[in-house]
Amino acid sequence: MVYFIGAGPGDPELLTIKGKRIIDQADVIIYAGSLVNEDVLKDRKPQARVYNSAYMTLPEVIRVMEEAEADGLTTARVHTGDPSIYGAIREQMDALDELGIVYEVVPGVSSFVAAAASLKKEYTLPGVSQTVILTRAPGRTPVPEKENMASLAAHKATMIIFLSVGQIGSLAGTLAESYGWETPAAVVYKASWPEEKIVRGTLKDIGEKVAEAGIKKTALIVVGEFLGNDYELSKLYDAEFETGYRKASH
Ligand code: SAH
Repeated sequence: MVYFIGAGPGDPELLTIKGKRIIDQADVIIYAGSLVNEDVLKDRKPQARVYNSAYMTLPEVIRVMEEAEADGLTTARVHTGDPSIYGAIREQMDALDELGIVYEVVPGVSSFVAAAASLKKEYTLPGVSQTVILTRAPGRTPVPEKENMASLAAHKATMIIFLSVGQIGSLAGTLAESYGWETPAAVVYKASWPEEKIVRGTLKDIGEKVAEAGIKKTALIVVGEFLGNDYELSKLYDAEFETGYRKASH
């Protein structure tokens, strides 16, 4: 059996109880060494075999899983955040399907939710934005043209940009064409790690501030008026409104 596990954003206590139980009992552990905090592996079995997938190709990862399976061993494939977001999990699941190897996915706390916690903000403020766009700038992996940054920015929704802090200068310019230069933006570096850094600004100055802070990777760019202070109160907790659980108070 193979378990894909979302290891969370960094803080080992942000691993699910289920994910931790499986890691601690696994015979073989393959973890994404570039981003996963090794502390999530600290209670593993002493005899567990540990592989860092940063040094492996897809066929090598699959071969390790296949051999473990042949020996009746349990594999924990440990991804950063949640594996469904830029996790390259699909190609692994498809390869396992082809081999007839059974697997399960255990979700994790994605870095984008950890960033909201660090910022102490809500992405979906009434009257501001009810939509969250998760995207990235094109890098070695291209982004389909239909999702180009300018077209996403046109919605002025809450936007969270992964894998792109190295391009923040040019991105801010593209985004400002729709959002306007005064729109708040923030960069969260290593959310939930001891070395976490938060840089706050507007689309006008965020590039410069991030360069000054020396942030070049492992960071999220978040953009939108959700970072500001104007919004409407929620209907959910409005005394004038009834919900399935509560009568109106008037
Ligand atoms: N599956 C992961 C994302 C993997 S892509 C998740 O759900 O979070 C790697 C990118 O995620 C990084 O380039 C960075 O943009 C972001 N990232 C991952 N961990 C992060 C963290 N702790 N703080 C800020 N950004 C992080």
